[in-house]
Amino acid sequence: MALKPKPRTNALVRLLGVSKSYTQPDGYDIPVLDDITLDIEPGQFVAILGPSGSGKSTLLRIITGLVSPSYGTVLYRGRPLDGPNPHAAMVFQSFALYPWLTVQQNVEMGLMAKGMPLKERHERARRLIDLIGLNGYEDGFPKELSGGMRQRVGFARALAVDPELLLMDEPFSALDFLTAENLRSELLDWWLDHQLPTEAILMVTHGIEEAVFMADRIIILSKNPARVVADLSVTLPHPRNRKASEFIGLVDQVYKIVTGWDEAPTAAAAPADAPAAGEAARLKPIPTGHLSMLTGLLELVADRGGRDDLYHLGSELLLEVDDLLPVTDTAELFHLAKVEEGDLILTPDGLKFCEADAAVKKAMIRDELVQIPIFRLIERVLRSKANGTMGREFFIDILEEHFSAEEAEVQLATAIYWGRYADLFHYDTDAETLYLPDEEDADSEAR
Ligand code: ADP
Ligand code: MG
Repeated sequence: MALKPKPRTNALVRLLGVSKSYTQPDGYDIPVLDDITLDIEPGQFVAILGPSGSGKSTLLRIITGLVSPSYGTVLYRGRPLDGPNPHAAMVFQSFALYPWLTVQQNVEMGLMAKGMPLKERHERARRLIDLIGLNGYEDGFPKELSGGMRQRVGFARALAVDPELLLMDEPFSALDFLTAENLRSELLDWWLDHQLPTEAILMVTHGIEEAVFMADRIIILSKNPARVVADLSVTLPHPRNRKASEFIGLVDQVYKIVTGWDEAPTAAAAPADAPAAGEAARLKPIPTGHLSMLTGLLELVADRGGRDDLYHLGSELLLEVDDLLPVTDTAELFHLAKVEEGDLILTPDGLKFCEADAAVKKAMIRDELVQIPIFRLIERVLRSKANGTMGREFFIDILEEHFSAEEAEVQLATAIYWGRYADLFHYDTDAETLYLPDEEDADSEAR
């Protein structure tokens, strides 16, 4: 369909044929967004729904003006966006608070950048801290707060600059179920009661129920590259009842549209009224298998024709089944083998893995890791940082929202170990920071 931009529009944001490609280290361009054309009108609460890696965050960054499209135009109130949009503010999944600043200082951050005088700044921040229910915590540091409270600070900081457009990138995904549910309802109340300075909200999510619960309009993106596959309006009155047949019907309809997605089969298969089915808010723990043991085990099984009895393997490797299971779980997670009737059976990829040299093994593991939520989380956070670096404590804090303190340590240690092996990210033991490898390093290693 030919583009016919209407010259007269009330749209706050207008995207015209926006496309974005990223150049890979090998020089090849990968298209992420393809020909996205849409308007966002004042008064709308829009949810953008798309699978992980589809380009939702990229789209938000383009709307904030932090990233420019490869093709196409972004208009804000009818004017082409040129550089960061001062009328937009963003809430991040990972909260992205400054750990060395207090709650109050974090909220004031954006105001300082705008050159607002101290007194006014203080007052405005206080008011917002009050609105979000954190009074008494002004002088606390992010570390002392729960995930839910930190995200409240994230909201206050974004709202402090009186944004006309509030952008939210999976704002509830890192929170536990109840905390997320409370914060969703509160945000909706503020919005519906006109307590927000904001004219429109654009929320990126991969939670279908979350979108149907909150938004007036749901835009569904495909993946590789992302195109708009549906643009639905949601007219159900608030507060929405998740058990109502209209609600379930709409959730079903969205599920049908997204069944083309190449992931989240469990979410799609879950009954529509199962709480948080579409949210996948909780991180699944990764098994803690040692990669050297994994390689050894797979090679042993390959020597035996690709199938062997687990008990037999364990006794030969002097391993109890309890020690062997994290390794076989890891093999299954990486699609290299499966366990059936007490046997470990290599998949075709598993056989290929055994024959591959170290570089190919690495690449195969890397391809698997990028599909796993905890690695996506780490990568997303690192990519969101200009220097590609983030302290381990930050990740521990996030993981503690999902696991016990002890398990969070184990999960991060395993993730770091695998991530380093696959060159997905690296770890500086002295500084205790995770960081992205240099593009150049990745490039030379790819050769
Ligand atoms: P989503 O938010 O939907 O998960 P993203 O917008 O973060 O997706 O990323 C979409 C795709 O673009 C991913 O494959 C990601 O690896 C890639 N990508 C994102 N940012 C960059 C970048 N700065 N350089 C190269 N590739 C990127
Ligand atoms: Mg994203």
